Formats: sequence, structure tokens, C-alpha cells
Amino acid sequence: MTLDIGFVGLGTMGGPMAANLVRAGHRVTGYDLVPAALRQAEGAGVRAAASAAGAVRDAQVVISMLPAGRHVLAAYAELLPAARPDTLFVDCSTIDVADARTAHELAVRAGHRAVDAPVSGGVVGATGGTLTFMVGATGPDFAAVRPVLEAMGRRVVHCGAAGAGQAAKICNNLILGVSMIAVGEAFVLGESLGLSHQALFDVASTASGQCWALTSNCPVPGPVPASPANRDYAAGFAAALMAKDLGLAAGAAEAAGLPTELGRRAAELYADFAATDGAGLDFSAIITTLRENRT
Ligand code: NAD
Repeated sequence: MTLDIGFVGLGTMGGPMAANLVRAGHRVTGYDLVPAALRQAEGAGVRAAASAAGAVRDAQVVISMLPAGRHVLAAYAELLPAARPDTLFVDCSTIDVADARTAHELAVRAGHRAVDAPVSGGVVGATGGTLTFMVGATGPDFAAVRPVLEAMGRRVVHCGAAGAGQAAKICNNLILGVSMIAVGEAFVLGESLGLSHQALFDVASTASGQCWALTSNCPVPGPVPASPANRDYAAGFAAALMAKDLGLAAGAAEAAGLPTELGRRAAELYADFAATDGAGLDFSAIITTLRENRT
């Protein structure tokens, strides 16, 4: 079924996601504060609106893909009154669980339906239409949003009620961020013990140390040819985004009274790294810091 979709935030992720909706036959009207992002989306068949409100006025579904919770809440203040009653609002940004729940409440209070649907899969997944969506929604809203998300992704998982998608996203990235540091520490220790990268990989990848950080995103060049380590850590999942997601996890843990000690320490390491040598690099490049920290 062809839908009228408003899309707000046409950046690194939103641009290719909107293009996939056009490719699936939907009528997409988009807006971004940055004119170049808007022009690029236009080139992919998105109709350019002159304002965020203009992008959602005739929409049945509104998708947002914005940097952080404060941008989503600010955008909703403008979008909710501009949309037709009972519009389905779908926020795909990665934001704080509490902000996601606030966004849901604001949308419902304004007479709309709301879903949080953050993604994993990065730019490659956004471009290729292979993202995983983690969805927080009521049962009927999940059923309504599912076909829309399937035009942009390969897996759509219903995680629970409002905010559950964001909760799943930060819990998954807590595992990923910490496990990448553990894998990096193991390689650095192995180096100092005279163990080759390949030998450690051959053992750990088929033993109890097996994990995605090792087998798909291996932080040393060689064992996994497609991993960012083989191209000087370019074009992967940015260390800054990992720092952001672990910061969200640490905030949620604090609110819940949980120490999550490794998660907090990992958040600090990625934040320091992203602010210095790691700016713009894949998060697996954190191994270079672990190597340099030798006493
Ligand atoms: P980005 O900065 O490239 O894009 C965000 C866009 O939002 C920008 O183009 C910006 O101009 C626009 N924007 C900001 N405020 C706006 C407003 N009020 N109205 C209209 N446009 C506005 O960021 P991105 O990499 O596309 O990430 C978007 C979200 O997806 C983030 O929450 C991020 O954490 C999450 N995410 C990113 C990746 C990734 O690999 N890049 C992976 C998973 C999740």
C-alpha cells in the first residue's frame, strides 16, 4: 500500500532510509535543517518541504531520524500540532529511554499514535535496506508500523511498550562496547606474550571467547578481512556514536540505581578516545588506546 510519509532528519542515516521508502513506492516528503541534505534526498525522489511542519501536514506516517532526545522533543513540539489527527509517529533516532517515553506521551496527548524504533546496522544497513529495528509500541501500532519498517530493514523486533525499543538498543550496545574492549585487551595481552593475532583468533572464534566484536568486527587486521581494522578503522560504527550509546546506558543505569561498572568505564574510554585520536574512527580502533596505555 502506498503511504504518505513525512521524514524529518535526512542525514547520514535518514537520507538513505528515506530513499528506500521512495524505492518501495511510498510518497515521501522530507525536511532537514541542512539544505545540502535536503537536496541529496530530493535527488533520491523525496519531495522537499520548506519546514518540518510542511513535511508532515499530509502524512499518515511521520518518521524522525535526529541526533538526540532534545532534538526529537523540540521537533515533536512543532510536528504534533501540524499533523492530521491519528498520525503514526515513528522515532528511529537513538535517544534516552525517558525522552522516548515523553515523546510517546506527547504524541498520544496530541491525538496521535507513537512508536520508538531505533536501529542497528549503521550506514551500510541504512543504504542497503538491511537495518534491524527495535520497536517499542502497542500491539496494534506495531502491526501498523511493521510494513513501513520492512521497506528499510531486514529485521523488525517488537521489544515491548513505549521506550522498549530504546532500552533494547542501549542494552545491546552495552554488550557490544564492553565486549570490544575485552577483545582488544586480549589481543594486546596476546601480543605481549608473543601470541599471533591469527592464533588467538583461531582459538577464541571457535571457543568460549566467541562474540561479534571478534568474529565480525575484529579489531586487528588480518583474521576478518571485512573488518574496519583492515582499512585503518575507516567507515564503521563511529567511536563517538558508541560513546553516545554507552552514555545513554549509563544514564539509564543511574536512574535505575544500577552500578553497571564495566559499562560506565567503557563509556569513559570511548568518550576520551572519540574526543582525541578516535574522532571519526570505528569504535574497534579503541585497541590503539589499550596498546598505548602500557606502563
Ligand atoms: P546525522 O547528524 O548525520 O543526521 C541527523 C540529521 O538531523 C542532520 O542532517 C541534521 O541537520 C538533522 N536535524 C537536526 N535537527 C533537525 C530538525 N529540528 N529538523 C530537521 N532536521 C534536523 O546523524 P545520523 O548518523 O544520521 O544519526 C541519526 C540518529 O541515528 C542518531 O540518533 C544516531 O545515534 C542514530 N544511529 C546512527 C548510526 C550511524 O551509524 N550513523 C547507527 C545507528 C543509529
